[in-house]
Amino acid sequence: MYNIDFETGGHTDRLLKSDFVILSPGVPRTLEIIRKLSEAGIPIFSEIEVASWFCRGRIIAVTGSNGKTTTTTLVGAILDKAGIENVVCGNIGVPFSDKVLGISERGYVVLEVSSFQLELIEDFEPHMAMILNITPDHLDRYDDFEGYKQAKYRITENQKSSDFLILNADDSVIDKNSIETGAQKVYFSTSRLMPTGVFKRGKSLVGIVREKEIPLIDTEQIRIPGLHNLQNAAAASLAALHLEIDPKQVGEALREFPGVEHRLEDVGKVAGIRFVNDSKATNVDSVCHALRAFESPLHLIAGGRDKGSDFEPIARCGKNRIKEIILIGEAREKMFNALGKAFPVQFADSMEEAVKKAFEEASPGEIVLLSPACASFDMYDNFEQRGKNFKEAVRALKNDNRIAKGIETS
Ligand code: ADP
Repeated sequence: MYNIDFETGGHTDRLLKSDFVILSPGVPRTLEIIRKLSEAGIPIFSEIEVASWFCRGRIIAVTGSNGKTTTTTLVGAILDKAGIENVVCGNIGVPFSDKVLGISERGYVVLEVSSFQLELIEDFEPHMAMILNITPDHLDRYDDFEGYKQAKYRITENQKSSDFLILNADDSVIDKNSIETGAQKVYFSTSRLMPTGVFKRGKSLVGIVREKEIPLIDTEQIRIPGLHNLQNAAAASLAALHLEIDPKQVGEALREFPGVEHRLEDVGKVAGIRFVNDSKATNVDSVCHALRAFESPLHLIAGGRDKGSDFEPIARCGKNRIKEIILIGEAREKMFNALGKAFPVQFADSMEEAVKKAFEEASPGEIVLLSPACASFDMYDNFEQRGKNFKEAVRALKNDNRIAKGIETS
């Protein structure tokens, strides 16, 4: 039917005979073959662009430096709660093209999109586009921060006046006023009262949409912890209110949504010490968010492959929170240089050793948090494997501890 070919693990000039080429998000645009394709005038698209040509439903696209997976999953949970046909896909693990033909014109595709995928769109037009936040991440791939920002803004470049662009009013990096869009700009905030949008007022999350005030939920009832997750909840609720979903259903979904594996995932207690798996925190900003989500003293396990980050901000956001840091992986010397003056530091050669060392130092009521601030590729295939290894180490500790001390664990 269609003459579709593919190449993996290297490229040949065969590609120069194509009508167009779809580039996998992991492939850098600096490759020789990309230059050749451009010179030959052969269009190169991302997978989300091509999948969107076949999409009968409407797209809700979520981008940002952090919180994409959580927010995308939460929007899907709210749509489920409201009984609205939807599929959650994209950067989250299930490709858009895998799901696109299954969605009807009444349905929604909730799509997590990275800036890599946005670099190669042409007609991609989400009905709702969200930019959750922009922080200096992936600087190893972009020459400059401005380029990274502009790639994220492309999410809105084809939107029209019946579409919505959901923005974080609290983010000082997003150029809220100057960003070019044909869509209606709407805002969420967790730090200030807003004339319209979704925001926190006292202890409540409140919406004002089409000049109507809509109470959503007491923020303490939102199941996912921390201020950053409140931002994710506010963003998802704002999308839901513009889809005219019953606010009661939005509230219910927020009360029930347990979060996503490897993002501040509660792994249970051993001898009164709580273990939290935040393996997905691969940059400094998300580590700071994680640290702020807890009241108890923290034993932080961090390290891995450096993405060109400045680790010093952890000294500031971890002040009076971090009791000790256990460093693993390639970045440990660099992290020690940045943080060794601010906190006691130990090195460990494996996750098992890190978990044991943290456990030995911690007292009941305290928390051992894996929140690495680094990529996982020096020791693992991906962050999921790192998080699983952490959970296994905690499980082993539970078993050892039960045997050795006869202590009750949960
Ligand atoms: P992404 O898909 O953008 O990587 P995730 O939802 O997987 O985002 O969360 C990644 C990490 O970022 C988690 O460790 C979490 O603690 C942190 N995080 C989640 N939401 C936010 C947010 N709104 N702002 C900053 N950090 C966040």
